[in-house]
Amino acid sequence: MKWEKGEMLYEGKAKRLYATQDPDYLVCEFKDSLTAFNGKLKAELAGKGEWNNRISSAIMGYLNEQGVATHFVEQISQSEQIVKNLKMVPLEAVVRNVIAGSLHKRTGMPEGTPLSRSVVEYFWKKDELDDPMMSHDLILALEIADEEQLAAFHEASLRVNDLLGAYMAERGILLVDFKLEFGYFHGDDLTVGDEVTPDTCRLWNKKDMVKLDKDRFRRKLGNVAEAYQEVLTRVTA
Ligand code: ADP
Ligand code: UDP
Repeated sequence: MKWEKGEMLYEGKAKRLYATQDPDYLVCEFKDSLTAFNGKLKAELAGKGEWNNRISSAIMGYLNEQGVATHFVEQISQSEQIVKNLKMVPLEAVVRNVIAGSLHKRTGMPEGTPLSRSVVEYFWKKDELDDPMMSHDLILALEIADEEQLAAFHEASLRVNDLLGAYMAERGILLVDFKLEFGYFHGDDLTVGDEVTPDTCRLWNKKDMVKLDKDRFRRKLGNVAEAYQEVLTRVTA
């Protein structure tokens, strides 16, 4: 199939979406921008769009093979991929295996403390409110999703956690936490959308617990490019 890149439909902080000749499919282009704290910290990093496009293509392709429906169809250039056009759910599902980031702030427990079981938390995608955390009941009360949908998000999040955790472990990486977004294809087909990259996951090198993800940028640790490239190398090896 020869894909035609049509008009730009959306530009976000990390990606641009374009129409194709088929309304069911979009071109997703990964940008070289790095942002954190809801866009308050910004930088450009040449090559990052390409690295993330290739990392997300590899991971989503793997999830597709394992029977998890994702939006990924095919990579068409260094920084672009074809994705299914989803009706997105305005939630971020965060899956955690180890205490880090905002959970460290909330619990006061040291970063790196393993959790006795994996946790799924939901955040409402509302930039103007800095994506507030949402309880199960509040998601139902505000009719963002119903019981059946929430149960499906939960199950799919844990299934991705199992698959991605094993995939990363084989590559010498500890999957600390990550964020997923879901959408529906053709009305009711629950599908993993957005991206799975070092922008949206905490990935620690197992050998020495060195961070290989966006925390290098958030916390000004340096070697951001090297970390993303290392993840790409391991994921495509
Ligand atoms: P943001 O909007 O947070 O700045 P991005 O730059 O990553 O983030 O923009 C990607 C946007 O596209 C997000 O709003 C995301 O929910 C949406 N999106 C991701 N995958 C799909 C898809 N397959 N179909 C439709 N929309 C999608
Ligand atoms: N995350 C994300 N997008 C967001 C918020 C979080 O991809 O808008 C990811 C983040 O990279 C980490 C996980 O979700 O892998 C948990 O993030 P946390 O709640 O600790 O928030 P943060 O420390 O990023 O503020």
